[in-house]
Amino acid sequence: MPLMSGLDLKQAYRQASVQQYALIANNFAETDILLGLVAAYSEAKSDLLLQVSHGAASFAGGGDALAGLRALVGYARAVTERHKIGVFVNLDHVTPARVDSFLRPAVDEGLCSSVMIDASAEPFEENVAQTRAVVEYARGRGVLVEAELGKIKGVEDEISSDEAFYTDPDEAVEFVARTGADLLAVSVGTQHGVSKGCELSLRPDLAASISESVRRANLDCPLVLHGASGLSADQVRRLVEAGVVKVNKDTTYQYVHARTSCEFYLEGKEAVLPPEGTEFDPITFESGDSPWHPNKKVFDPRIVGREVQRAIAEVARAMIDQVRSGGRTIYG
Ligand SMILES: [Zn+2]
Repeated sequence: MPLMSGLDLKQAYRQASVQQYALIANNFAETDILLGLVAAYSEAKSDLLLQVSHGAASFAGGGDALAGLRALVGYARAVTERHKIGVFVNLDHVTPARVDSFLRPAVDEGLCSSVMIDASAEPFEENVAQTRAVVEYARGRGVLVEAELGKIKGVEDEISSDEAFYTDPDEAVEFVARTGADLLAVSVGTQHGVSKGCELSLRPDLAASISESVRRANLDCPLVLHGASGLSADQVRRLVEAGVVKVNKDTTYQYVHARTSCEFYLEGKEAVLPPEGTEFDPITFESGDSPWHPNKKVFDPRIVGREVQRAIAEVARAMIDQVRSGGRTIYG
């Protein structure tokens, strides 16, 4: 399926709201995680929401974020073409300073279905102004906007209690009404954003009351959960029931990537590292008097890459089950 638009994504979120499931927003910065995801999502017939941060794009572009985004999105387009699932791209956490250099050109070039403007570190009024400006820009171009609400209004400078780190339902309604945001990332006790490092307990009840308040105000703005790596299946299920339609996952894939590679190379250590005292020249492939040679069946990066892809697909399948998006693609 070619990359789908923000309007298609809106339809996917509406369906998710009604049928009480969510889409995982899957961060990636390289191709092994991407290919593992594509395999799992295609097999599960779940729509695939990919997510690229400025840092990931910059990494993929050798320091040029826009070039990296074009490359990652182009790759994703090419390898998902034959799969019968919806494929979407969200720009993750764009700070106000990067709106002109990154967000706007990405929208103009059709590189994303949605964007996330993160002005949550700014005071409330500034967050409203920044988010509104992005909504005005993106909406006419068919791109959805996700925003984030951080600390409670008025307590930006002097935080009196942990309560200030939870999103306030009334404030969420005011924020959505004034900005027109399509999706809202809320602070309900995950380790993320302004609440990072605080000892907060997870509050699915708060997510439910924010959803309820937004709906009662006749606003269409489902919730997003950031910092969701580390939650149990039961916690995720309760949050989805409370109105969360998008669950960000990045750290889980990073860990699975590292662990799989680490185990693979520990196991094949002798095939890659020369024995102590042996000098091996990677250009001439000579190891002096030693008969030792590295084994291409281990050091070819495609071998570990396939292992990583398999492991990513496995964990992706488990998370598709958690949010229940399997079998519900809006494609076709
Ligand atoms: Zn966030």
